[in-house]
Amino acid sequence: MRTKSLKWMAGISFAAMVIGVLAGCGITKQPGSTGSSASKAVSTTALSQKIKVVAAENFYGEVAQAVGGDRVAVTSILTNPGQDPHDYEPTADASKAVADAQVVVYTGIGYDDWMGKLLKADSSAQNKEVVVVGSDLLGKIAGDNPHVWYDPSTMSKLANQLANDLGKLDPANSQDYQQRAKAYVTTMTQLTAKVAEIKQSTPVSIDVSEPVFDYMGDALNLKVNNLKFAKAIEEGNDPTALDFASVQNDIKSKKIKLFVYNTQTDSPTVENIVKLAESSGIPIIKVTETEPSGKNYIQWMTEQLDQVGKVL
Ligand SMILES: [Zn+2]
Repeated sequence: MRTKSLKWMAGISFAAMVIGVLAGCGITKQPGSTGSSASKAVSTTALSQKIKVVAAENFYGEVAQAVGGDRVAVTSILTNPGQDPHDYEPTADASKAVADAQVVVYTGIGYDDWMGKLLKADSSAQNKEVVVVGSDLLGKIAGDNPHVWYDPSTMSKLANQLANDLGKLDPANSQDYQQRAKAYVTTMTQLTAKVAEIKQSTPVSIDVSEPVFDYMGDALNLKVNNLKFAKAIEEGNDPTALDFASVQNDIKSKKIKLFVYNTQTDSPTVENIVKLAESSGIPIIKVTETEPSGKNYIQWMTEQLDQVGKVL
């Protein structure tokens, strides 16, 4: 969602805290991606240097690191589950990282328009390999649910795409990129097995705070019953009284089996609903939009799926 309250806090008394949060999520280099090339003699061949990859969101950066190994230097821009990605404005460092990158990965379809703008303004953009995950890999268009990394097939598609792109930039190692992608895709079978284990044979009704988990919900045969409420929250609007009452009714009458709560938000309306769900004994599944630090994609998804598995 777009948090109005974040702006409100910055304007009042939590300015220092907000600045801390924003500073913390500016730019993070992935482990192993720092430029050891600085200590090497300058070489005339471009390939003696690491290929610079910029990922708008950290889960894509993880895939790029897995496929590129030692030959890539990955910078992920959105890395902090404490910040709302929908509100992000690129810093000067982020803009520079994008300008310097040879490979850029972002979600597109309205999720991270700032990246599209940076690329549009970049005269070298046509020389970059750019992967727009939502449209290029999943065929989604603006207006579709942008949280495409919750589709359990997305990361495998991205790994294969990146292997092709890195192979174009560094043909001598193209086989290695293909093999690394294959190994990454193999690790994803843990996730697909988990999804298959939890998947329901008949649709199960749920409500959600916003449409973050929905692609995974689809894979599990969970049916979101409060689409309008969730859309309003995601867009930073107040749900209508009717939509709010309908969620209250879903909870009170136990029409839903669980409530999916994106904790990476700041909405009194949602907090209200979460409290009602708690007091009504409706299980709450906590999810985030951004991969938490210290967890890889599979661990992050598995933890969320385990919460669902316990309820169903
Ligand atoms: Zn979102």
